[in-house]
Amino acid sequence: MPSSKGYGTANAQSPLAPISFTRREPGPTEILIEILYTGVCHSDLHMARNEWGQSIYPLVPGHEILGRVAAAGSKVTKFKVGDIAAVGVIVDSCRKCAPCNHGEEHFCKEGATLTYAAKDRVDGSITMGGYSNNYVVDERFAHTVPSNLDPAGVAPLLCAGITTYSPLRHWKVGPGMKVGIVGLGGLGHMALKFAHSFGAHAVQITTSLRKKEDALRLGADEVILSTDEAQMKAHADSFDFILDAVSAPHALEPYLALLKQDATMTLVGLPEKPPSVDVFSLISKRVSIAGSMIGGMIETQEMLDYCGKHNITADVEVIPIQKVNEAFERMLKQDVKYRFVIDMSTLA
Ligand code: NAP
Ligand code: ZN
Ligand code: ZN
Repeated sequence: MPSSKGYGTANAQSPLAPISFTRREPGPTEILIEILYTGVCHSDLHMARNEWGQSIYPLVPGHEILGRVAAAGSKVTKFKVGDIAAVGVIVDSCRKCAPCNHGEEHFCKEGATLTYAAKDRVDGSITMGGYSNNYVVDERFAHTVPSNLDPAGVAPLLCAGITTYSPLRHWKVGPGMKVGIVGLGGLGHMALKFAHSFGAHAVQITTSLRKKEDALRLGADEVILSTDEAQMKAHADSFDFILDAVSAPHALEPYLALLKQDATMTLVGLPEKPPSVDVFSLISKRVSIAGSMIGGMIETQEMLDYCGKHNITADVEVIPIQKVNEAFERMLKQDVKYRFVIDMSTLA
């Protein structure tokens, strides 16, 4: 059995610390990946601290995984030893329900298997994530990576990338649309890059005045400081679509006020506490609040290929794994530019 080491936590209160465990042998359609880089998603922090009440310990976070194939089962066709492979938020599903058959495994009727803190469908063990040196996964849930892209900048595409690409595609964001992105963090900066790349008029809405220059560089046509009432008022009733990628509890009404009649605000951020909403802010313009979760395997590969073609990667700060707790704290202070990525060679 492949032996693994990484960083994990035994409970919601403790910082991440070194941990050792084993993974199962790769089966005929599975690959063993030696991890090179793993992105630090805010969901990792929510999960490590059990903020959604669904964590299982010991917990090794990490679902933005990029690595090199170290072994491949006899029936693997997509990869050979030495190839680069990438893994995101889900690593298995029932593979027979309608969503699974349509490549929407994230909506699996039986529940997809998450990359960490979930019951493995093969051997019943609890999945351990990518803050570690290796991973075993079926090739169906691993992706090929365009060779022109910087590997460290690719890792965050596996969650932050697909989670923003998918709703922007679903709500047909493109030329002629004014699109708002709320929150300039890991997800937000990818949403901004995609909205700009899809040809929309992209507007970054932020609480951090200091991020204005970065937002413009990342593709924003305009930047709104959400704490400035006059700026918010000037943009009232003008947006065709808004994507909310905020990690902390916040009022939705100020953003709903920005929507045109019949427009949609889609939530991808998952604060610890569910939001409430003043229904008057919906009925007065017949606007919608929607939600979106990562993306399926087909769309994730499509997103990676799109990024290869358009040379899109995340803006990353590469850190040694020993600094992961510090990275969590900086994430809470909105001090990320714009995704921490762990260089897994520092685990040695
Ligand atoms: P992140 O890098 O920490 O960015 C979050 C951003 O939210 C911050 O940079 C900040 O942007 C903004 N923010 C923080 N506190 C705020 C507040 N009180 N009011 C308004 N804005 C605030 O986090 P992330 O990794 O992008 O993740 C964002 C959220 O998406 C998390 O809750 C995560 O769990 C969730 N998520 C969901 C999915 C899904 O499938 N739906 C997938 C991945 C992650 P400014 O400084 O610009 O204001
Ligand atoms: Zn994530
Ligand atoms: Zn299914």
